[in-house]
Amino acid sequence: MTVSVALAGCTGSIGRQTVEVVAADPERFRIDAVSVGSSVREAVDVVAATGARVIAVSDPAARAQAPELLRAAGCSHVDVVDDLAPVCAEVDVVVNGVVGFAGLDITVATLAAGRRLALANKESLIAAGPVVQPLRATPGAELIPVDSEHSALHQCLRSSADADVEVARLVLTASGGPFRGRSLVDLAHVGREEALAHPTWAMGPKITVDSSTLMNKGLEVIEAHELFGVSYDEIDVVVHPQSVVHSMVEFSDASTIAQLSLPDMRLPIAYALAWPARARTPFGRIDWAQIGALSFEVPDRATFRCLDLAIAAGRAGGDTPAVLSAANEVAVDAFLDGRLRWPMIADVVAAVLDAHDTSMPGTVTDVIDADRRGRAAASAVVATMAA
Ligand code: MG
Repeated sequence: MTVSVALAGCTGSIGRQTVEVVAADPERFRIDAVSVGSSVREAVDVVAATGARVIAVSDPAARAQAPELLRAAGCSHVDVVDDLAPVCAEVDVVVNGVVGFAGLDITVATLAAGRRLALANKESLIAAGPVVQPLRATPGAELIPVDSEHSALHQCLRSSADADVEVARLVLTASGGPFRGRSLVDLAHVGREEALAHPTWAMGPKITVDSSTLMNKGLEVIEAHELFGVSYDEIDVVVHPQSVVHSMVEFSDASTIAQLSLPDMRLPIAYALAWPARARTPFGRIDWAQIGALSFEVPDRATFRCLDLAIAAGRAGGDTPAVLSAANEVAVDAFLDGRLRWPMIADVVAAVLDAHDTSMPGTVTDVIDADRRGRAAASAVVATMAA
């Protein structure tokens, strides 16, 4: 049976790699609908390549161009709509590769329709956890993570007959980023180019800086807590520079199950599309002759303070992770612009969290409001600091 897929954010990194996964096994997967913000030309190329029958374009000016572009590409039978959300109920699985808060509506629509969500949108669980969680109880709703660490945890947890009583600890692995092994003094004046030189994963600038501060790992701890309902006391982080072990689960009998694969996002995407079966993926095979040693070390929490700041925000719960994430984005932007030194990213986040009183968001609007407040508070702190 062919799995029908709706692809939200079809021109981004997750979107493009999803297209590759589907193209590699056309008997099994079919993309029926795609969405895009404003990059309508690229999205029409995706429609032409995949045979999708619906394209949702959120930007009105870009949407107005769509019919002409589709005709030129020989796709005149395709429906142009303004919103993918209503289509989410009509497919087997929705891949949410939208970056930012624009992805929340897709998450909500998919789970509320009782469909499977292959989730790559970070905001859906980190900022909007309190709003998204209740929707997972919708009959038929499934949430399969598309981050490599959470996909690994999902795979390891399959080995348990009763995860509620058998899981002792989730262990997320971190590559350690480009600054692993360096001291805070040594990192006082590192520049943008150094922070962007990630040793194992090729990603966008924001997430690469988050990897250099370990904020990315802290945000993933929050996601792991939200996804698997494991308490913060039972989630650990271990640095593993080779990025081959993507995460591990330790069980009550002291056995640890790890998931290994090459760092290739197409693998967690294929896992989420094929679940509960296994995909027949033609990429990413491990060559044991090439891999050599796998090493592990504890993170340097004094130098990489963002890790514990994120975990503290997760423990506070409510709107605090949304505020943390917003403050971090503002601080990272300021670092990338040369307005803030690298160690000050943690200073900004700490100052914003110190001044924040946690409240419980009930709606997507509340979450977006918490984000707005976190950004305003962080901008005010950044303005007081000189690079
Ligand atoms: Mg990750």
